[in-house]
Amino acid sequence: MEYRKSGIQELRKALDEGKVTSEELFETAKKLAKASQEVYNPFVTILEKFKQKRKAESILTGIPYALKDNLSTSNILTTASSNILKNYIPVYDATVYKKLKESGAVLVGKTVLDELAMGGTGTTGNTGIVRNPWDPQREIGGSSAGSACAVALGIVPFSLASDTGDSIRKPAAFGGIVGYKPTYGLLSRYGLFAFASSLDHVGCFTRSVEDAAIVTNLIKGKDPHDMTTFNSEKMDLISHLKEDIQGRKLFYIKEIVEEEYEDETSKAILENFFETIEIIKKAGFIVEGVSIDKYLLEAIYPTYMAISCAEATSNNANLTGIQFGVRGEGKTVDEIMFSARTKGFSELIKRRFVLGSYILQKENQEKLYLNACRIRRLLVERLTELFQKYDGLLLPCSGGIAPTFDEATDQLSDRYLLLENHMALGNFGGFPSITLPCGLIKGCPIGINLTSAVKADELLLNMAYKIEEQLPYKGQIGGDLDV
Ligand code: GLN
Repeated sequence: MEYRKSGIQELRKALDEGKVTSEELFETAKKLAKASQEVYNPFVTILEKFKQKRKAESILTGIPYALKDNLSTSNILTTASSNILKNYIPVYDATVYKKLKESGAVLVGKTVLDELAMGGTGTTGNTGIVRNPWDPQREIGGSSAGSACAVALGIVPFSLASDTGDSIRKPAAFGGIVGYKPTYGLLSRYGLFAFASSLDHVGCFTRSVEDAAIVTNLIKGKDPHDMTTFNSEKMDLISHLKEDIQGRKLFYIKEIVEEEYEDETSKAILENFFETIEIIKKAGFIVEGVSIDKYLLEAIYPTYMAISCAEATSNNANLTGIQFGVRGEGKTVDEIMFSARTKGFSELIKRRFVLGSYILQKENQEKLYLNACRIRRLLVERLTELFQKYDGLLLPCSGGIAPTFDEATDQLSDRYLLLENHMALGNFGGFPSITLPCGLIKGCPIGINLTSAVKADELLLNMAYKIEEQLPYKGQIGGDLDV
C-alpha cells in the first residue's frame, strides 16, 4: 500500500487486515504534513498527538483527514487565517467535526484559507501563500487552498472545507482532485465561521467520487443547531453510485462555452470540454446545449458580490476583538474595536466590508441588495426549470489553468466573466455540485463541474462516478514530498 495514493477504501482494508495501525497512518500523515510546509504551506496547525475515539467503528475509523481552519474545533486553534483570530481557541466543535470524531476518523491538521474564506487565490491567509503541488509557481486557488493542497499532495485522503461561491470546486480543479459541495442543508454549518450564510456550504475534497460519497454519507443529517439542515435519513449516497446512467440527460450553457476566447489556454479548456463530452456520450449520456439570457449570466458575479459582501459585513460584525480574538488598543470600546479591526483585517476583507456596508445602506438597499436578490431568484428559477428536463448541468470549472502568483488577482476580470464565475450558480440555488479532474494543460490539472437539482445528490454522485470511470485521472496526486 502506497499511503499517498491510497483512497479511503484501501486504507480501510489495510487497517482491517492489520497491515497498518491508525497511529502509524497518523504518524505518516503528520510527517508528510510537516514536510509539505516549507514549499506548499497548506497547514495553519499540525497536530502533534494521535487522538482517536475509542470504540468507534465506522468506515472512517483510523483514517487521517484535515479541516479548513474556519471549522470550529474545541481546544484547537481556529484562525480562519485572519490576524484578528490568530489566538482564537474555540470552546465548541463544528457539527461536522463532532461527527467525524465520533466516527473515529483522525484529525491531522487545520488548513490555510483565504482570510475568512473570502477570495479565490490562496494568497491572503495570514500564514502565507499556499502553492500548487503540480507547479509551485502557481496558486492552487481558494479559498480552501490548504484543504485542496493537502489532498492533492496525498497527505490525507480527504479534507473538509467550505464553498460560498466556488471555494471547494475551483481549487479541486486546480489541484486535480474531486471537490463536492452537497445540497444546501445536507451538511450542518454549525461551527463554520459564517461568511455569507445563504450561500455557505460545507463540503469535501477527495481523490475519487466514491470517497466523497463515503465522507458525506457519514456526516450528513439534520442538526438542531442549524435550522437550514434537513432530514436525509433516506438518502444513501453510496448505494446508487454504480447505477446505470444510459439515457441520462445533461446540458451545458451555450453562452458560456460557445464564446470565442482569444487566449490559448481558454481554447484548450474548451477543446478538452467538448472532447470530454464526446467521451461521456459514448458511455451513454445525452448532452445538449441550452441557452440562458446572457445579460442574466453576466450578472452572476456582481450578484454574488452584492449578496456575499452584504451578508459578510453583517456576519463578521462580531469580530471586534472584545469577546474573543485579538484585542485592540484604546480607551473606549469604539477605539478598541477600531484598532482591532484596522489591524486585524487585510485589504481584501476591508474592501468587501466597505462594499457590503454600502450595499446595505438604507438608500442603496432597493437598488443594490434587493435587485441582486431578484437576479438570484431569476437564475435559480431558470435552472430549476432546466433541472426538470435535464439530470445535470455540465461546464468547465474555469477559464484558465491555475494562475501563477503574478497573475493571481481577486479583481473582477471580464476576460473570463462567464467561464470563470458560473459556479456561484450552485450556491445561489443550493444545488449539489461536484468538480472532477478531466485533463492536464501545460502539466496543470483542469476540472469539469457537474451540478444537479436540489436534493438530487444521489443522482449527482452516480453520474459523477460514471464520468470519472471514463477518464484516466482518478486518484492522481501531484508534487514530491521528501520524508
Ligand atoms: N472566490 C469567491 C470569493 O472570492 C468564493 C469564495 C468562497 O467560496 N468562499 O468570494
